[in-house]
Amino acid sequence: MPRPLTTSLNILVIGAGIGGLSTALAFQQQGHQVTVVERVATIRPVGAAISLWPNGVKVMHQLGLGETIEGLSGEMTQMRYLTQTGQTLTDFSLAPLFGDVGQRVCPIARAALQQTLLDAVGTEHIQFGRRCIDYTVTQHGVAAHFDDGASLNADLLVVAEGTHSKLRSKLVGHPVERQYVGYVNWNVRVPADEALAPLSHWDQYVGDAKRVSFMPMGSGGNEEGTQEFYCFFDVPLPAGTTNDPDHYRDELREHFAGWAEPVQALIERFDPARMARVEIYDIPPLDSLTAPRVALLGDAAHGMAPDLGQGGCQAMEDAWVLSQALARALEENIDTSAAIDSALAQYDRARVDRVGEIVQRARKRAAMIHGHDATHTQAWYDELKNEDGQAIIDGLKTTVTGGPLG
Ligand code: FAD
Repeated sequence: MPRPLTTSLNILVIGAGIGGLSTALAFQQQGHQVTVVERVATIRPVGAAISLWPNGVKVMHQLGLGETIEGLSGEMTQMRYLTQTGQTLTDFSLAPLFGDVGQRVCPIARAALQQTLLDAVGTEHIQFGRRCIDYTVTQHGVAAHFDDGASLNADLLVVAEGTHSKLRSKLVGHPVERQYVGYVNWNVRVPADEALAPLSHWDQYVGDAKRVSFMPMGSGGNEEGTQEFYCFFDVPLPAGTTNDPDHYRDELREHFAGWAEPVQALIERFDPARMARVEIYDIPPLDSLTAPRVALLGDAAHGMAPDLGQGGCQAMEDAWVLSQALARALEENIDTSAAIDSALAQYDRARVDRVGEIVQRARKRAAMIHGHDATHTQAWYDELKNEDGQAIIDGLKTTVTGGPLG
């Protein structure tokens, strides 16, 4: 017998990252009972900071966190590309983008974003230190199974367990392998200093298929109120090179020998203990992000190269779209099961093409920046010399306005 429609469902979210927590919050705000289960006992976000582009920030505003996030983030109003020796290729204002889409970008410390989301969801709704190992569809819902031998029942299961997702292959019905994108990224926060870059600029030095970036990211709410830069280095390298914090400075001295003074100063200043060194992988676009009673979301659904700064923003879009689809379906359907089926079908229709296209575009951009074809990379450097900002702003605008909140 179909279960009569109830508007407060029991929803289980696997993973307390950006995707899982945004989803939990969106569902809580609609009056659902949400439990988040997180593998680790204490979350320590990997990576220094993240740029939330306007499409992500718009979702945060809808969830009531926009003001907090804007307050914790950096004010980045200008974008500049420079050669490895420090000649400006292009330097332009981002104001036309923010004006057109009605929202600025928010570069923010990962720890500050994570804490903001955790506080909003409430840690009493999160079970830490428990790993989901499997799920089964039951007569009236879904049961998730954990490594401690326990199971939890729910009406809907959201798998937001990140790029290394183990449940993904079962959910989509075939093995999904991560693919190496071909480069290594070192990222770190350092105190902001005009000697490194102007405090309002996103500066990127490019050359030899490598990149160094300085982005103003605000104070992230740190106790001293010190403004910081989110900095990263990209170098094309084979997969599997040694990752040892004791070698970070020497590695970077070698890869960036002869680069401009701010790059040298950064290499001498950063604290290796605060740095993350990440080999960049993505997953191929998937044909479907749902199975009966289950939705795949965030990096588990669309791990992508960070070259568009969209992975976290897309996880936020997923959260918004899934929660809105469920709200609509609950209004329209007469039993819970049909409402969930309808919501999952709507989510799939809205997200598969959107995230698939962004995964592919991010991979293409990563290839161009990191010299997969040296002639393409050189053509890009040449284009940057003649760039007045319009083409870059148009690209960013297309990405932002393709999202669910325009
Ligand atoms: P995750 O953050 O990976 O969270 C998954 C959570 O699930 C983790 O806490 C994990 O412990 C938990 N978990 C895993 N398995 C289980 C299990 N079986 N049971 C229970 N819990 C489990 N995005 C942007 O929008 N802008 C940027 O500027 C940007 N820059 C980036 C730079 C770099 C170098 C990288 C690598 C990524 C960048 N991203 C950026 C992408 C962004 O970091 C990710 O898209 C985002 O963090 C994904 O969030 P998530 O919640 O899907 O996954």
